[in-house]
Amino acid sequence: MRGAVIHAPGDVRFETLVDPKILHPTDAIIRTAVTCVCGSDLWPYRGLEPIGDPHPMGHEYVGVVEEVGSEVTSVKPGQFVVGSFATSDNTCPNCRNGFQSNCLHREFMSTCQADHVRIPNAQGTLVATDERPDEAFWPGLLAVSDVMGTGWWAADAAEVKPGSTVVVVGDGAVGLCGVIAAKEMGAERIIAMSRHASRQRLAREFGATEIVTERGDEGIERINELTGGIGADAVLECVGTAQGMQQALRSARPGGTVGFVGVPHEVAVDGQELFFSHVGLRGGPAPVRRYLPDLIGRVLDGRIDPGKVFDLTLPLEQVAEGYRAMDERRAVKALLTP
Ligand SMILES: [Zn+2]
Repeated sequence: MRGAVIHAPGDVRFETLVDPKILHPTDAIIRTAVTCVCGSDLWPYRGLEPIGDPHPMGHEYVGVVEEVGSEVTSVKPGQFVVGSFATSDNTCPNCRNGFQSNCLHREFMSTCQADHVRIPNAQGTLVATDERPDEAFWPGLLAVSDVMGTGWWAADAAEVKPGSTVVVVGDGAVGLCGVIAAKEMGAERIIAMSRHASRQRLAREFGATEIVTERGDEGIERINELTGGIGADAVLECVGTAQGMQQALRSARPGGTVGFVGVPHEVAVDGQELFFSHVGLRGGPAPVRRYLPDLIGRVLDGRIDPGKVFDLTLPLEQVAEGYRAMDERRAVKALLTP
């Protein structure tokens, strides 16, 4: 098979790799329908995370099952499946509590920018669609496997309710999907923080009612003005930087909640400030598996279209250009077709 391998910062190559095999009776092998480059893939690409030895990349996937291990009965060859970037058995205590991304048998996916992928914990991880969906739905279903599931978790963790005033920090694919989630959960006001015209347009299309372009102290001041000096009920932190977290914590009202899903890089939370703010804080890798059946249904019903976050489509062999385009902010998110 062929897929993406990162060698060094800025150096992603499309290479011939060893075909994946069933290693455990709980595995499945899928043929990738579409995959993509994630904003979090840019951390090692930009040299902000150690790379070590050259290794495959990618954790988002939808595809068709080719082979299953002897213990996998929930999906069978030929079925179209959606999974999560974190695999789970869906039976352990953490899974039963709805935190499948903290499964006791969790394995993070890391080889998905390829034409075939081995899925560990396939029984608990993969959800098959009733029929093979039309290709037009593939990008939306792919988004569900990570960015839409993560945006949903951000809104869920931030306790968005009907009538809520919501601030979304970050206008990447996850932040934009957070806008979709907040809208679906009945938010009345959705304030999207974005400096990019094309992303602002998409945020509005997804349900944002206001846009804030300021950042740092000015951004905090602007949210303060827009919320009558009180702050928002729910804030979705979808960046993962110190500035993003500070923006989020200082945008929430006393008693409000921040859902943080940007993978933190050099983020520190001041205990005194958090204590006196009365702001709740919850985040982490999204338990996408919990949301999969619901979100797959919303996509196939045409109720939501998170596939619109893909603004660049490339053949898989041009994966390096996908990384470059996202690194240079020419694209929000690159879809790759094997
Ligand atoms: Zn589990």
